[in-house]
Amino acid sequence: MVYAFFVSHWLLSVLFQSLFQHRYAAHRMYDMPKRTERVLHFLTFLVQGSSYLDSRAYAILHREHHAFSDTERDPHSPWQHANALTMMWRTKKRYSDYAHRRREPEPRFDGGFPEWPWLDRFADSWPTRIAFGTMYSLFYLAFATHWWQIAFMLPFHFVLGPVHGAIVNWAGHKYGYQNFDNGDKSRNTLPFDFLTMGELFQNNHHKWAASPDFAARWFEVDPGWQVLKLLAAARIVSIRTPQRAVFPEPLPKAA
Ligand SMILES: [Zn+2]
Ligand SMILES: [Zn+2]
Repeated sequence: MVYAFFVSHWLLSVLFQSLFQHRYAAHRMYDMPKRTERVLHFLTFLVQGSSYLDSRAYAILHREHHAFSDTERDPHSPWQHANALTMMWRTKKRYSDYAHRRREPEPRFDGGFPEWPWLDRFADSWPTRIAFGTMYSLFYLAFATHWWQIAFMLPFHFVLGPVHGAIVNWAGHKYGYQNFDNGDKSRNTLPFDFLTMGELFQNNHHKWAASPDFAARWFEVDPGWQVLKLLAAARIVSIRTPQRAVFPEPLPKAA
């Protein structure tokens, strides 16, 4: 039971991060009516729970990452840090500065992302995060069959968002193969990326940053794109940028 919860929470959490915060908020690869956007925003909050990511802060940080990939100004390049923890710490500080508006971004990185101040404030409050953490803990207390499930699996549920970010940002710019020379260190870590729903095709994604499909070669599978295609076929969203589209300049504005 706890394994099913772990796997589904992991996959859903990273799927919503990929579809909502990354492909929609940061890149606006697709459009949807405002009401649908609110539903998706709320579902993202429910699924990501205690480690929900503010879409404005995520989008600004991520656009900086594309503009400065693997240079000193990249907010999270593994080539600028001795280990993943110092990289995560620096990312977290910059993320909080944008989430709490202690720092203003360059105008070109601002705007075009979904904003719902009430929900983002509510999601970011300690009582909300603790309430989600308590629910995960109660589930483990009820269904865990070994003590080590509580010791080693439960803590991941509290911080899934940052863990996924760290895996993608560290491994995706350090381990794997390259299809393209993008002038940075981006790599494709896995040819079948179910672990992070397509996010580990960093080399392809830095080449065609506006392409909603992160796969580039016949043997590569991007699960996030498959889900997006289904949503488009059901007319829930409409794909905005074509496959193999490069980064649009200037950044698209909000609908
Ligand atoms: Zn990258
Ligand atoms: Zn991106």
